[in-house]
Amino acid sequence: MEHERVIFFPLHGGNVFAPERVKAFGDLLQRRQDRIRKLQWGIVAVYLFLLVTPACLPEAEARTGVFDSLARFAEAIFWGLWWPAVILSMLIFGQFWCGILCPDGTITEFASRHGRGLKAPGWLRKPALPLLLFSLITFYEHLIDAFRSAQITLLIIGGTSLASLCTGLIFGQGKRVWCRFVCPGASIFSLLARCAVLHFKVDRVAWDAAPRPASGGVDCPPLLDVRRLKSNEKCNMCGRCSGHRQAVALSLRAPGEEIATLTPDDVRRWEVIGILFVLIGLLYAVAHWSGSAWHQQLSAALRHWLGDAAFWQAEAPRWIFSHAGARTDLIGAVAALSSIIGMTLTLGALVGVGLWLAAHGQKKLAGALAYALIPLAGIGLALGAVEYSLSILADNGVIAWSILPWLRLAGIVTGLAWSFSIAQRLLRYWRRHLERQTFVLPPFAAVAGLLAAAYQFAPIPA
Ligand code: SF4
Repeated sequence: MEHERVIFFPLHGGNVFAPERVKAFGDLLQRRQDRIRKLQWGIVAVYLFLLVTPACLPEAEARTGVFDSLARFAEAIFWGLWWPAVILSMLIFGQFWCGILCPDGTITEFASRHGRGLKAPGWLRKPALPLLLFSLITFYEHLIDAFRSAQITLLIIGGTSLASLCTGLIFGQGKRVWCRFVCPGASIFSLLARCAVLHFKVDRVAWDAAPRPASGGVDCPPLLDVRRLKSNEKCNMCGRCSGHRQAVALSLRAPGEEIATLTPDDVRRWEVIGILFVLIGLLYAVAHWSGSAWHQQLSAALRHWLGDAAFWQAEAPRWIFSHAGARTDLIGAVAALSSIIGMTLTLGALVGVGLWLAAHGQKKLAGALAYALIPLAGIGLALGAVEYSLSILADNGVIAWSILPWLRLAGIVTGLAWSFSIAQRLLRYWRRHLERQTFVLPPFAAVAGLLAAAYQFAPIPA
């Protein structure tokens, strides 16, 4: 089967991606849940130390070295290492981070075992909620340059952990209601994980034929119906269902296979909006546009236009911004925010219109083509995160900006080829659903190519 294609990997232990080894890894996760739990609490301890301690110490100089202050060390770990690694791992392997390592997941599940155990209400289950939270947090982070302040990092990341704890204390009985319905990061992770080469595959025939296990059903933390599991969307890859009824196994599939086999019913409006305006628009605006001279000029013009109105100076909550160091000027922050929002909407709308034209006005097809852009946009996002890592290296005297254009080229060419290959397979798969099926791929390639150029030629930070 195409999904089970073997990828050879020249290690002395043999092919680590052989199907039986992949399956064995899933089973290992299932058997070693006790050890995974110990690992999770170890990560919680390190996470809390790196989050809380720097915020309690005197504010470090913005340009001190990584090993000169705990604050700069924590910044390098959180934003220089963790963020790019998590993005790439989601895109290639799925949401293992969420199910095995994420401290918020551990905290919320633990709290939920001792909490009130209420059912998640309807408003908490709104599909747009995580996207909305993610967008608000991202705007706020960049508005105040949060990465450079241990206190603001504590406020944002610690606030998210506190919210996960509270969600666990109120909702779910030993389950991760937070991860399933609320986690802001999961809104992006669930898109990226659709491209992953690993997934937990359910054999429905074997499942239905197997006797009901004495141990009962699967303890799936994000409350998934494992029997009908078809997508990586919400699967935390925790491995607890591996081997259940001899029907669930960690398996390989072709990169992007899940998107290439989407049906029109699988295309959801909120996800398409999320891909266009958050994954592509917003994350391009904050990771690439916000470092450009154009953004500086537009912000300056907007600032001039907004003027020095007394309301902005006197009434607004200045204390929020006073911690940011870089932007204590509220009008400047509003101008910068307007520029970022403008870029977000412009880029998202341009890509959306381009896909709509490529699909000859067929909305479902245009939506499906937006999913095909996830690899390119995900790699673009990872490159933005890597740029931040390079800026941390530069602060420590290691100037490595010259490798960035080549890194970009390698990443963007890979993302472009990956997206194009998904679109090609998707169009083959959709033949029976399409009214007009000719001349879709070339205009899609043009849209993807222009987006790739925007990533490749984004300004390099000074
Ligand atoms: S389906 Fe549920 S139990 Fe199985 S790996 Fe995914 S999150 Fe874990």
